[in-house]
Amino acid sequence: MHEHTQPTLSVAAARERLVSRLVPLSAESVPLARALGRVLAEDVVAGDDLPPFANASMDGYAVRAADLAKAADDSVVDLTVVGDIAAGGAGATPIASGEAMRIMTGAPLPPGADAVVPVEWTGSNSAMVDQALPSSIEVARPLSSGDFVRAAGQDVQRGTVVLERGRRLRPPDIAMLAALGVEAPRVSQRPKVAILSTGDELIEPGQSLSPGRIRDANGFGLQAAVQEAGGEPWRLPIAADTEESVHARFRHAVQGSASLVISSGGVSMGAFDYVRHVLETFGSLEFWRVNIRPGKPLAFGSFEDVPFIGLPGNPVSALVTFEVFVRPALARMAGRQELTKRAIHARLAHDLESDGRESYLRANLSWDGGSYLARLSGSQDSGVLSSMIAADAFIIVPAGARNLKAGEWVEAWPLGEG
Ligand code: AMP
Ligand code: MG
Repeated sequence: MHEHTQPTLSVAAARERLVSRLVPLSAESVPLARALGRVLAEDVVAGDDLPPFANASMDGYAVRAADLAKAADDSVVDLTVVGDIAAGGAGATPIASGEAMRIMTGAPLPPGADAVVPVEWTGSNSAMVDQALPSSIEVARPLSSGDFVRAAGQDVQRGTVVLERGRRLRPPDIAMLAALGVEAPRVSQRPKVAILSTGDELIEPGQSLSPGRIRDANGFGLQAAVQEAGGEPWRLPIAADTEESVHARFRHAVQGSASLVISSGGVSMGAFDYVRHVLETFGSLEFWRVNIRPGKPLAFGSFEDVPFIGLPGNPVSALVTFEVFVRPALARMAGRQELTKRAIHARLAHDLESDGRESYLRANLSWDGGSYLARLSGSQDSGVLSSMIAADAFIIVPAGARNLKAGEWVEAWPLGEG
């Protein structure tokens, strides 16, 4: 039988095979206001220096530092104030030696000036709002060239790569793009992910329970997970446990131009598990068992050239395998550079038993002052969703490990985009 000829894959090997079959989607431009969470399809090169001109980093007076080189309490220097520059001001007249010009934070330094005396140094402790321009100021502290000045290009130099392709845009990235005048960055198209729940027992959340029926938790949970991971979710109607129904849903997904199809349920050894069967019969099945807990039955293949990932049916297993396989798949399709989450190191708060599979255990992390402590968040039964709700991380127990002791180091994945 098939299941005996095909060895169970390690998690890493399965993910490697899966990801290597996927290609990044093509690029599109999106307005900045909708670019959060999108993935850059090309490097962003600065077309301007940032800041574009030398400007004051404090409210005060633009001066020539050389005039103040010897300023001290017993050697106060008197400078003549010859003008005023507000932020947004431009084309100020130059200042000469012995002169100063009142300047506000962000305003361009006038020609001749190379430093700014903060207003606090001139004996004034109040804000300058509405204050008349003084005719002169007294300074009793020395200053060096460049003090309280942001040089042109101090932040970003024109021509340099500021943001690399494959980066998922965060709020500071959006600020940088705006500062550089990139109104519509080139980003990868969002993968359209068809989501299929399978099972004769499933009803919609709006329906009342009747004997033997449960509501479709996975369709909605996976929809949310796809959305959080940057994909465009498309929940299909629930499939019944028949070959025809599952096959029809697959065709529907492909006709609707899904870039990826994910399903839950129907991939195990049950008499009515048609997902794998349909994939084998009408598409192609690459593998269907992975050495992971929870979630050993996990099918990967394609249907009419659209990649397909069949997740297990238990809601916890579906969400765990989403994190381990689907999130990296979406990252790959979006052209992201980092496909897997960064693990953090934590110490076990208590002893732990595992069954030899690579295990993703629902856990909570706390900081004990020197390291993270990880403790299980509740029952690890794959039917228990509430311990997943209580969890903020997965403890990753490597394949082969069975008895772990309190205080041992383990890797953990914080949940969500994090
Ligand atoms: P299966 O692999 O289809 O036998 O599913 C395994 C378990 O997960 C069964 O108890 C199913 O009832 C349950 N299950 C499957 N799909 C869903 C779903 N969409 N929502 C909630 N539970 C599900
Ligand atoms: Mg089922």
